[in-house]
Amino acid sequence: MKTLTVSIISIFFYSLVPVVCQGNWMAGTARIMITPETPLVMSGYASRTKPFFSVKQDIWAKTLILEDETGKRVAIITTDLVGIYSDISPAIYAGIEERTGIQRQDVLLTWSHTHSGPRLTLKDKPSSDATEADTQNSVAYTKALQEQLVHLVEVASRSLQPVDLSWGSGVASFVMNRRQRTPRGVRLAPNPSGHVDRSLPCLKVTTTDGKIMAALFQVACHNTTLTQNNYALCGDYSGFAQAHVEKRYPGANAMFMIGCAGNANPYPRGTMEIAEQHGREVAREVSRLLEGELTPVTGPLPTVLDVAHLSLQPQKSIPELEDIVKNGPSWLKGNARTMIEVLKNGETLPITYDAAVSVWQFGTDLTLIGLSGEVVSGYVLATQSAIGHQKLWIAAYSHDYFGYLPTAQILRDGGYETRGLFNGMGWFDEQAEEDMIETVTRLANEAGRKFE
Ligand SMILES: [Zn+2]
Repeated sequence: MKTLTVSIISIFFYSLVPVVCQGNWMAGTARIMITPETPLVMSGYASRTKPFFSVKQDIWAKTLILEDETGKRVAIITTDLVGIYSDISPAIYAGIEERTGIQRQDVLLTWSHTHSGPRLTLKDKPSSDATEADTQNSVAYTKALQEQLVHLVEVASRSLQPVDLSWGSGVASFVMNRRQRTPRGVRLAPNPSGHVDRSLPCLKVTTTDGKIMAALFQVACHNTTLTQNNYALCGDYSGFAQAHVEKRYPGANAMFMIGCAGNANPYPRGTMEIAEQHGREVAREVSRLLEGELTPVTGPLPTVLDVAHLSLQPQKSIPELEDIVKNGPSWLKGNARTMIEVLKNGETLPITYDAAVSVWQFGTDLTLIGLSGEVVSGYVLATQSAIGHQKLWIAAYSHDYFGYLPTAQILRDGGYETRGLFNGMGWFDEQAEEDMIETVTRLANEAGRKFE
C-alpha cells in the first residue's frame, strides 16, 4: 500500500513586530492537504460502498491557534471530513497536548460533514459493505490523519504573531429544512416552512499590517449537495466556499465549521454545479462580512469542557425490539438489531450518552459553544432562550460524532433524525433536550457569559 504523503501547503511565518493590538491576541494558522493517495470508500451514504473514482477537489485540515493576554492557547481545527468518531480523537488530543502544551479542553476539533469524503475507521475487521483491502486502506489513512492533525497544530503554534479579532454574522439562503410531513410520517425532503438556522457567523483574524490571516465561518447546513451518485472526492459546498475565499485573499486560511444542521439540507441539491453555486454564495457572503464593519473581539478566553448526560429511552424488551425490526421504520431497525444482540448476550444497555460540550467565552464579546453530534436546529432556539440571543455562536459537529441529537418535538414526530446512536446502543429520549440545555447553561455560566 502506498504511504500517504503529507505536505504543509501553507504555513504563515511573520516577524514579530512589536505593535499593540486591540485585544492583545496572538495567533498562528496552518493547513495541510488530507486528500488520500489511495482511493478510499466514501462516507455519508450507506448505499455507496465503493472507493472514490476521482478527485474533484482536494480536501484539507486547517487550524487556528489563538493566545489570549494571559498566555493561554486554544486550537480550532477544521476538516473536510464527514465526522471524527470518539475512538479516533483521543490520540489527536494526547499528541497535541504532548507536543504543544494545548490541553484537551482548549481544542475544538470539528468536521464539515462533507458526504463526499473518505470513510474513517480504526477497526481492522471489515464491515459488511467493504472489502478487506478497502478497510485496511481506511485504517491506514485514519492513523496517518491522527498524526497529521497533531503535526498541523504543532506547526501553527510555532508561528504566533499579534492579531486583531473581529466577528459578525451574515446569511446563507440555501439552507432548507429537510423534514417533510406526509400522510405516512416525516420523510427526508424539502420543507420550506420548517425551521432552520440561516445565520453565517464569521471570525476575522487580521495581522498588524492589515492582512487577513484567517477567516473562520459557519453554515448550519448538511454538506450534502452531492448525493449518493457522486464518486468524486470533494468538500461539497463548503470546500468550494473555502477555495473561493482563499483565492480572493491570498495567504488567508479559510476555515469552515458547521452549525446545528442535523435537520437541514442544501436547496437545491444533486449536482456538482449546484455545490459550486452554493460555495460561491457562501464565499460572497464571507467576503461581504470581511470587507464590512465587524465587531471587535477581546479576551481573555476562559474555556470549559464537560459532558452532557443525555437521557436514552428506557430499555425495550427483546420482543418489542423484534417488532421494530419487523414492522418499524427503516431508520430504527439497525439500532433495534444491535440492542437485541446486546440483550441476548446478557449485557446491559446504557441509560445515558455522555456528549462533550465546550463553551469558550471571548471577553464580554462572544460566546462560542461547541456541541458534539448532529444537532438539529431547534437547539439554537432552545439555547438562545436559555442564555440569550446575542454575542452567541453555536457550532455543532465537533468533539464527538455519535449520531443525531433530535429535539423532544422531533422525537415525538419521528423521522430519520430519531435513528439514535451510531454505535447502535440506544435512542435518545425526549428528556435529552433538557439535559443538553441544562449543561450548556451551566457551562456558559462557568465560562463567565453575561446572560441578557
Ligand atoms: Zn448527517
